[in-house]
Order: sequence, then structure tokens, then C-alpha cells
Amino acid sequence: MEKNRTGALIDEQQICISCGFCCDNTLFDNAVLQPGEKGTLPEKMEESYIKIKNQEYFKLPCFYFNGKCSIYNQKKAHICSSFRCQLLKNFEAGKITQKDAIELVRQTKQTRVELLKEYQQISGKSEVLTFREILVALGKKQKELEKKASLSMEWEIFAAKCNIFESLLIKHFKSEEDFDKMMSTSEKGK
Ligand code: SF4
Ligand code: SF4
Repeated sequence: MEKNRTGALIDEQQICISCGFCCDNTLFDNAVLQPGEKGTLPEKMEESYIKIKNQEYFKLPCFYFNGKCSIYNQKKAHICSSFRCQLLKNFEAGKITQKDAIELVRQTKQTRVELLKEYQQISGKSEVLTFREILVALGKKQKELEKKASLSMEWEIFAAKCNIFESLLIKHFKSEEDFDKMMSTSEKGK
């Protein structure tokens, strides 16, 4: 029997609780704010406010993300309750089951863990970075290697793995519409 919308929303929440990629700096660098929201936001969101070319944002990872949203029942930014990624849209359209969506999130998290481990190994640093922070560190490393005109096979392979992971994120979690209207990445925003 088809579930009513409330049942479907509860099922979607279960997917989000297992995920958090739109809050934790896996998908996006910043989350967009509506005009006039500044001044009405939770304290730490106000502190991470930024404006880029007349568009207002708060920076990600969100301070309130701690495995899952820690202020779920409190007032948040409009984007927090309105954002729906491609995975949720696919789930709503019946293109993926809840079980498979949660499994996809689990596998994606596992790959992200492996990328972080590999970054730590080849950089010799033990710092724990988000995926988008890894991309920034990788970009710096590539520039540094270009200047020295030296090639490093392990960094090249790592960059290729990050590109593949980014493509999978785009395919499964981002949509063109979300990307343009609701969120920003540093490449677009700066
Ligand atoms: S990326 Fe999608 S599934 Fe994951 S928390 Fe955000 S809206 Fe939910
Ligand atoms: S307040 Fe909650 S839902 Fe909004 S970005 Fe932060 S962790 Fe995510």
C-alpha cells in the first residue's frame, strides 16, 4: 500500500539521519541564506556568516552537525528544512528504496573514510579533514608540485580517486537545480 506523505517524510528523515553530506562539508562549502535571515539565526550560524557577490551564506561544515543535526527541533536557517538532495528526490520518485538509499550513504561514507586515510598517508599529516578540505589541500599540493615541475604518481592517483568520488556525489546527491539555486562550492562562489 502506498504510504501517505507523512510516512514518506519519516522515511526520508531516516535517510538524512544516516547521511549529513549537505551539512558536513562533503557536498558544499557554504549553505545559502534567504534575504533577512541574518540576525535571526542560531548563534554559531551567525558567526559563520559570509557574503559572496551579494549572496549570503553560512559556512560549512555546520557547527551544529555532530553526526547528525544537534538542533533538529530548534529554529534553523530556511535551507535546513527546505533542501532536498537528488537522493531524496529519487527516493520520492520511487527510483530507489529506503534500504538502498541508506546503503548508498553507507558506502559513500566508507569511501570518504578511505580517501581521508589515503590523504593522511601520502601527506604525512594526521589532521582530520572534511572531503572539501581535502580537495583544497590537494589543489595546493598540485600547485606546489607544478611550481617545482615535479610529478608525483601517488598524488596523481589520489587526485583521480577524488575526482571519481566527486562525480559520484554529483550523480547521486547533487542536482543542477540545487547546485545553482541553493548552495555554493568554493569554485563557484569565490
Ligand atoms: S545530502 Fe540528502 S540525504 Fe544526505 S542529509 Fe542532505 S538532504 Fe539528506
Ligand atoms: S543546523 Fe542542522 S540541518 Fe542546518 S546545516 Fe546545521 S546540522 Fe545541517
